[in-house]
Amino acid sequence: MIKLTKRQDEILEIVKRNGPITGKEIAEKLSVSRAALRPDLAILTMSGNLDARPRVGYFFNEKLGVKQQAERYIHQKVADFKAHPIVVEKSTSVYDAIVQLFLEDVGTLYAVDSEGHLAGVVSRKDLLRAAIGNRNLQELPVSVIMTRMPNIITIEPEATLFDAAKKMINYHVDSLPVVKEVDEQENTYLLVGRITKTTITRAYLEIMEEKSD
Ligand code: ADP
Repeated sequence: MIKLTKRQDEILEIVKRNGPITGKEIAEKLSVSRAALRPDLAILTMSGNLDARPRVGYFFNEKLGVKQQAERYIHQKVADFKAHPIVVEKSTSVYDAIVQLFLEDVGTLYAVDSEGHLAGVVSRKDLLRAAIGNRNLQELPVSVIMTRMPNIITIEPEATLFDAAKKMINYHVDSLPVVKEVDEQENTYLLVGRITKTTITRAYLEIMEEKSD
């Protein structure tokens, strides 16, 4: 993506304020020749910043440029997109956890200890694995099958969606618990939300469909 020159920024401003406006009129406002402006106008239309209509002139493209949209997307905070975490006590049975997974229509449950701190992650595959190997799912607590601290990959509310996306891909997990640290040494975290691959996809759609002001 091209970084706009000062002249191109000026053109954008003029079109934003006066559009639709002809090339000739823009040239007059900038006190340059129409020919001198042609390369800039070509760049601005090709990059999608401006639209041109024959006999009407140039007007500002309401939609953000792809690069600008991507930048907006990258800087979004986890705090603004996180979903509600679905939580079970770590003593909950695998059977009840499976029921919960269906009732809440999620792919991952978070297990907490008696103090409400994050203790484990229970994913679909963890539950399937347990279901294949065990007869008595009602007696088996999720604490036996969950991925537990300190192996849980977490994210903080102040991190960006970009950070979250990178972590999910790098660690091959579908979701991240959003946490606030209570005690680093003890590995105790308070669970405040969850970020999933769906969250990331939804944010992407929202931003791509958003219009600039
Ligand atoms: P699925 O089981 O549906 O494929 P995941 O890919 O998220 O879901 O889970 C794969 C494995 O990674 C499971 O054993 C799960 O417990 C573990 N896991 C899931 N999320 C995390 C996380 N944030 N941190 C650490 N381990 C995780």
